[in-house]
Amino acid sequence: MHIHLIRQRMRALGAKPEHEQRVLRDWLQARPYDHGRRRPQDFLPKSLRDALPALDDDLRAMARLIATHPTEDGSARLLVGLVDGQTVESVLLPRNGLCVSSQVGCAVGCQFCMTGRDGLLRQLSSGEILAQVALARSQRAVSKVVFMGMGEPAHNLDNVMDAIELLGTEGNIAHKNLVFSTVGDLRVFERLPQGTVKPALALSLHTTKPALREKLLPRAPKLTPQELVERGEHYGRSTAYPVQYQWTLLEGINDGDDELEGIVDLLKGKYAVLNMIPYNTIPDLQFKRPSWDRARAIARWLHQHGVLTKLRDSAAQEVDGGCGQLRARANAMRSP
Ligand code: SF4
Repeated sequence: MHIHLIRQRMRALGAKPEHEQRVLRDWLQARPYDHGRRRPQDFLPKSLRDALPALDDDLRAMARLIATHPTEDGSARLLVGLVDGQTVESVLLPRNGLCVSSQVGCAVGCQFCMTGRDGLLRQLSSGEILAQVALARSQRAVSKVVFMGMGEPAHNLDNVMDAIELLGTEGNIAHKNLVFSTVGDLRVFERLPQGTVKPALALSLHTTKPALREKLLPRAPKLTPQELVERGEHYGRSTAYPVQYQWTLLEGINDGDDELEGIVDLLKGKYAVLNMIPYNTIPDLQFKRPSWDRARAIARWLHQHGVLTKLRDSAAQEVDGGCGQLRARANAMRSP
């Protein structure tokens, strides 16, 4: 269900804008509705109050918890069921973060990612994206939402932007703690600056070599790494949030000295953080994870050469190719 349809339904029951806000806020913050015992303007019309249990059921039904898999770093992957039987993954991250999915499957087809293997199956509605936050908050606090789960948010831009807008208002999440992650799409650089809620931006870089990037991210827009960084820099400076560049470290592919020098040329002096994520080996894919010592040496060298680099070992981020494995496993168990 799209968020505008939920609003329409409430309006048809006599809700005023402040009533809609009230119901949406309680949903997104996973608070039971308290029947308007606070301010007089919070009292809901009787027709809406009577319809609330059914509305509440429908909101909750958009994202059901099917399974939880804790990971070693204190995160937990959630397998989330949608009303049509499809599934996506959300990930509870350390420090009250949440990684949400924006699509079932993905059309970009990154070579190191499970989600991209079957292509795009369908878009998530704005309600389904938001329902992942409400579901996670029913488990524990969430103060940061990153759009790095299954799917390419730029390919579902209207719904993702609607979700971001509501999370930055009724969802009570600081705008800099909403992170839009993309392989780079020109529409993103046009739309994000126009939103009333402007999220932080994460850009999947993975290599400084245009030809290798086309190979690794075969259906990403044909922007060169240089063009991507120029556009990112412009957005980062205008919002005053540094851009996060994502780099999945693949042994023998993008961990050589030539790449490191390329990174310094591209990112030194930029308003940027480089997130280096050693690849999580997946049995079906041919890529390998470099040793932790090598990854640490790379991060140290980049730091010494003027690039703010964070080495991450999160099983949670889509860019490590980990996202999508839980769903793939669940589907495999269902197939004969
Ligand atoms: Fe899509 Fe992200 Fe996977 Fe690439 S890494 S195929 S953009 S989900």
